[in-house]
Amino acid sequence: MPARKQSSGTVPPGPEHTRTGLSAETLRQAFLDNLFYIQGRFPEIATDDDRYQALSYTVRDRLLHRWVRTIQAYKERDPRTVCYLSAEYLPGPHLANNLLSLGIVDATREALRGLGLDLDAILDHEEEPGLGNGGLGRLAACFMDSLATLEIPAIGYGIRYEYGIFDQKIQDGWQVETSDTWLHYGNPWEVRRPGICYDVRIGGRTEHVTDEHGRLRVHWRHADLFRGVAYDTPVAGYGVETVNLLRLWRAEAAEDFDFTVFNQGDYVGAVMRKVRSETISKVLYPNDEADSGKRLRLLQQYFFVSCSLQDMLRIFATTGRPLAEFHAKFAAQLNDTHPTIAVAELMRLLVDEHGLDWDEAWQATRHTFAYTNHTLLPEALEKWPLPLFADVLPRHLEIVYEINRRFLDDMRLRYPDDPARIARLSIIDETPPKYVRMAHLASVGGHAINGVAALHTRLLGTTVLKDFHDIWPDKFQNKTNGVTPRRFLMLANPGLADLLTEALGDGWTRDLERLRGLEGLADDPAFQDRWRQAKLIRKAALAERLRAGQGNAIDPASLFDIQAKRIHEYKRQHLNLLHVVTLYNRLKHAPDADVPARTVLFGGKAAPGYAMAKLIIKLINAVAEVVNRDPDMRDRLKVVFVPDYNVKVAQSVYPAADLSEQISTAGMEASGTGNMKFSLNGALTIGTLDGANVEIREAVGPDNFFLFGLDADEAVRTRAAGYRPYALYERDPELRAAVDLIAGGHFAHGDAGLFRPLVDHLLGRDDYLLLADYRAYVDCQDRVADAWRDPARWTRMAILNVARMGRFSSDRAIAEYCRDIWNVAPARVDG
Ligand SMILES: *Cc1c(COP(=O)(O)O)cnc(C)c1O
Repeated sequence: MPARKQSSGTVPPGPEHTRTGLSAETLRQAFLDNLFYIQGRFPEIATDDDRYQALSYTVRDRLLHRWVRTIQAYKERDPRTVCYLSAEYLPGPHLANNLLSLGIVDATREALRGLGLDLDAILDHEEEPGLGNGGLGRLAACFMDSLATLEIPAIGYGIRYEYGIFDQKIQDGWQVETSDTWLHYGNPWEVRRPGICYDVRIGGRTEHVTDEHGRLRVHWRHADLFRGVAYDTPVAGYGVETVNLLRLWRAEAAEDFDFTVFNQGDYVGAVMRKVRSETISKVLYPNDEADSGKRLRLLQQYFFVSCSLQDMLRIFATTGRPLAEFHAKFAAQLNDTHPTIAVAELMRLLVDEHGLDWDEAWQATRHTFAYTNHTLLPEALEKWPLPLFADVLPRHLEIVYEINRRFLDDMRLRYPDDPARIARLSIIDETPPKYVRMAHLASVGGHAINGVAALHTRLLGTTVLKDFHDIWPDKFQNKTNGVTPRRFLMLANPGLADLLTEALGDGWTRDLERLRGLEGLADDPAFQDRWRQAKLIRKAALAERLRAGQGNAIDPASLFDIQAKRIHEYKRQHLNLLHVVTLYNRLKHAPDADVPARTVLFGGKAAPGYAMAKLIIKLINAVAEVVNRDPDMRDRLKVVFVPDYNVKVAQSVYPAADLSEQISTAGMEASGTGNMKFSLNGALTIGTLDGANVEIREAVGPDNFFLFGLDADEAVRTRAAGYRPYALYERDPELRAAVDLIAGGHFAHGDAGLFRPLVDHLLGRDDYLLLADYRAYVDCQDRVADAWRDPARWTRMAILNVARMGRFSSDRAIAEYCRDIWNVAPARVDG
C-alpha cells in the first residue's frame, strides 16, 4: 500500500524560505542564529568549535529538507532498496563535503568573509569519524557517496563506535597509539533516533517444542539482552536532491537498571550491567590482529546485523507485502565477512519470529544477500571457534548446521565419491576445536560473490573459493573498486578541478569518463604549464602543513615520492626503504652525482599488535633522521613520515604526489583504492601487477606506468621453487650494502640489534619476496628519475593518467553493482 502524500504543513517550507535558503545572506543569518541558539554564543566570544558547530548545523538544516523529501519519495514509490552492511565506514570530514554537495561552498565562504571569518579555518577544525581501518571502510564511504549521487535508494548500516581508529603519534620514531575522541565535542551530523531501537539477545539455550498446530517451534531462552539505538547521518548526493541514510547502531542497556539486581540492593551492580552493555559499540577493532577468538568482536558483528535486519523488517512491514517477498524490497550487500552472521539471523527472524517455513525463508534469504570478498590472505578469512559461537549464538549455530546439512546433502549427490571435497566445502571446519567459516556461510547464503579487482576475482575463484567456483561459476563476478571524484578531486584538489572544468566543462564531476577529453591537451605547452602550477600548489600546501606540524622543511620542487596506506609487510614499505638506503649509499659514494631531488614520504598506521609493522615505522623514522641530517644529501634526498594518516590527511597527500608507490607483492593486494586516488590526481604509479594496478596500467597505457617485479603467478612459482633470499643478497652488491647498513645499526645509533628481526626475516624467509623484486624495483626507480628530468614528458604522462582514470570512479563501480548484483534502479527525488 503506497503511503499517502504528505499534506502540506507537515514539513517545514522549502529552500526558498529564509530559514534554509542557500544565498550568502541567508547563510550568514542562519550561522549567527545557530551560534546564538545552539551554542549560546555571539561572535566576539565564540571559539573555533562554536563556529564549526554553528556552521555545521546551518548546513545540516539544509540537508534535512532534501532528506525528508527523499524519504517521502521512497515511501511513495516503494523501490527496491540497497542495504549496505559494513562493520566500517571511513567517511572523512563531513562539513566540506556537504557544502560541495549542496553547491554552497562559495556562498558560505562569502557569508563568513562578511563576518571576518575564514571558511578553511573552520573546516580544519572538524574531527573526522574514524570508524574504519583503511581501504575497506573508505570503500564503503565512497559507495555511499555514489549511491546518493546516482539517486539509488540506499541505507548504509554499521556501528557507531564511540572510539574509532586510534590516533597515531610518533615518539622517538615509534608509533604510539592514543584514543580517538571524535565525539568529545558532540557530533552535529547525526540525529539520534531513540524511537528506532531493537532488542538483541545473546547466549542461553534453545528449546524445541511443538505448538498447538503441530508445528515445530524453537524458543531461544537467551541469557543477556542489549538494545541498539539508531543514529542517522545524512548522505547527500552531489548535484541531486537525494539524501540517503547512514544508520549506525549504538549499544545500550535494554533497561536503564537491572531491577532484579537493583531490588537486592546492588545499585552499583545494576549500573555496571548498563556499562557492560555499552561496551559493545565502544571501540573499533584495529585490523591485522590475530583475533579469531575475540568474543567482543563477534558480539559487535551480531549486534549491528541484528539491529539492521530488524529495521529492514520494520520498514518492510509498512509496505504491506507478504514476508516471502522480502528480497524484492531489499538487496543487502555483505562488505567482507564481518556482517555474514546476517544469513543465519535473517533465517532466524523469518522462521522463528515470523513463522515462515524453512524453504520460503531460505529462498528470501539467498535472494537478499550478496557477498564481497576483500582478501586472499588466509589469516584474514574470518572463522569463529565453535565453542565461542555456540556460547554467544546457540540458536544461530543450529541454523548454520541446518543450512550446512542441506547444502552438503546436495553436494554429496553431486560429488558422491569425494569426501575430501565435501569437508573442504563445509561451513564447519572440523579440525578441533572446530570453526564456523564465515566466507563459506556468505558464499552459500547469498546469490552473488564478488572480488574487487579483475586479478583478485580470478585468484578468488582459483584459490580460496575454488571449490565454490567449481559448483557455481555463475555466482562469481568482478566489481573493480572505485573512488569518489567529489571528495578526492573536487574537494582535495580544487585547483586541478577548476583546470579540468575550464578545459572540459563540469560534466566530468558526475561522469568521470569525460576526463578522456584531456588527451588532446597532453602535449599542449600552455596547458602543461598550468597543470604543473596546480600540482606545485598542492605540494607547497603539503610542505607547509608538514613544516607547521613537525618543523620539517621540504622543497616543493623536489619529486614527491609517496607511499601512504596501512603499514603491512605485504605492502612492502620496507622495499621502498631499501631503495631509499640505496640512494643514500650512492650519494655517499658520489656526493657530486647528478640525481634529481627527491622527497620520499610515508604515511600510515600499524595495527597496535603487529610488531613488525611497528618496527617498519621505526625504521622509516630512523632512516629519516640520518638522511635528513647528512650534509652529503644536500637536499637531494629527504625522508618524511606523515603522522596520523586519516582521510583528512589523505586529502592533502594524494594531490601532492608526483609518484605513487603501489609496490605490494603481486597477488596480495585485493584491489587498492589509494592507487586510484593518486593517479586521479596526476601522480604516476610505480607498481607491481597486483590488485587494480593491473587495470590502471591497462587503462592509462603501459608507457605511462612504471611497472616492475614478479607477477602473481611468478610469485607463486618463486616460492614453490625453493626461494633463497640469502643468495640474492650475496649476489647484488647494492642490495647487500643497503641491508648491511640497516643490520649494522647505522640508523640505530650503532645498535645492531634494533632492526635485527626485520633483517633476519628478509634474509631468512622473506615471505613477501622483497629481495626477489629489489633489483627490478631499483632499476625502475632509475627510469622514474630519468622521466622526471624531462618535465614535458612527465607532465604528458600525468595528464594521460588523469584522462584515462574515468573507469575508476565509484560511480562506475556502483552502476555495475546495481545492474549485475542488486537489480535496482534510480528513484529520482524532485527538487
Ligand atoms: C584510500 C585510503 C586507504 C586505502 O589505501 P590503499 O593504498 O588502497 O591501501 C586507506 N586509508 C585512507 C585514509 C584512505 O583514504
